[in-house]
Amino acid sequence: MKIHEYQAKDILAKYGVAVPRGEVAYTLDEALEVARRLFTNGAKGVVVKAQIHAGGRGKGGGVKVAKSFSDAEEYTKKILGMHLITHQTGPQGQKVQRLLIEETAPIDRELYLGIVLDRAKAQLVFMASQAGGMEIEEVAAKDPDAIYKEYIDPAVGFQPYQARNLAFKLGLKPTQINEAVKFMTGLYKVYIETDASLLEINPFITTKDDKLLALDCKINFDDNAMFHHKELKDLRDVAEEDPLEVEASKYALNYIKLDGNIACMVNGAGLAMATMDIIQYAGGSPANFLDVGGGANQQQIEQAFGILLSDPNVKAIFINIFGGILRVDVLAQGVVSAANNLGVKLPIVLRLEGTNVEEGRKILKESGLNFEVGSTMKDAADLVVNAAKGVAR
Ligand code: GDP
Ligand code: MN
Repeated sequence: MKIHEYQAKDILAKYGVAVPRGEVAYTLDEALEVARRLFTNGAKGVVVKAQIHAGGRGKGGGVKVAKSFSDAEEYTKKILGMHLITHQTGPQGQKVQRLLIEETAPIDRELYLGIVLDRAKAQLVFMASQAGGMEIEEVAAKDPDAIYKEYIDPAVGFQPYQARNLAFKLGLKPTQINEAVKFMTGLYKVYIETDASLLEINPFITTKDDKLLALDCKINFDDNAMFHHKELKDLRDVAEEDPLEVEASKYALNYIKLDGNIACMVNGAGLAMATMDIIQYAGGSPANFLDVGGGANQQQIEQAFGILLSDPNVKAIFINIFGGILRVDVLAQGVVSAANNLGVKLPIVLRLEGTNVEEGRKILKESGLNFEVGSTMKDAADLVVNAAKGVAR
């Protein structure tokens, strides 16, 4: 689960990690009220920041520094409601429905801090870099040595000496080192206690008066741990999520939208991965990842079908099922009734194996609907790739 910058900063503040003063606003009036309050309480300027779940907002025009109240008003009018396009939103952009209005900070240096899981090492890694404020992916690709790393032993956790190592490598002043250790230790605590999967401060700044501040903050949480965290549930903003993925999550379907044109319905995450691979191998491109789960029922199959069909890019459907707990006849029944109810016109290719496969095939045959059945996964992949290209057999 992703959250907004202002929500992430609220969490940091609870853990004693320094963030600028600021508040969220949903309307022009609210934004102006926050700006007025900040100016009244001594702010030299305010930053108007679009709150969307994508990064790169600054470059896209979604972060503006206002020196006066009237500038703040102008920027708020410009940014609130705009379709902000960044390298992470796709060409259609993301509508800005919330703003963070924050006190400006006198920036001295822009640095980077991040915590992620390094899957290859099976350890968390704490990263730091002097190349703050830039896209860290670009830094990692062009100049990997510019990212300093401390791997965290899960038995003892992040140690103060590791924080000191990073602080020294960042070239912080001696008077800032202790503060930096506290700051990083706080971030690590946030990561662990909220079951985060990613925590990034970009930029992590030093100010002209030698303070340390998190000027931006991104936190993603591990969805599988969210049942531990009722307090975080309300932070979800479904307006930021893909509507089809939101729909799928209501039915406990594991769906991720991709940008190809072959819809896949598969049971089991491993088989779903293999299916996407074999579509690519056959020269096609998958429109989604969809795992209907081991024990899907007929209703879920129908709902899954509905979701696949509401993606306008889809040109053909590949159903690849190994019937274990999910019996093939149940699947076939679901597919036939969905195809009938939804008036499916698109070509459907199936590859079915496992429990009750004969009954399943019989149901499909007797349905009178036009399905093609591949004898192997590769055969079925070739069929569906051709079908998506509009090539008749
Ligand atoms: P992102 O582009 O989505 O990562 O948004 P950020 O919150 O990181 O903001 C982008 C850039 O705006 C930062 O790297 C800073 O250079 C600048 N910025 C953000 N807040 C302030 C501020 O308070 N004062 C000044 N001068 N610049 C700021
Ligand atoms: Mn940033």
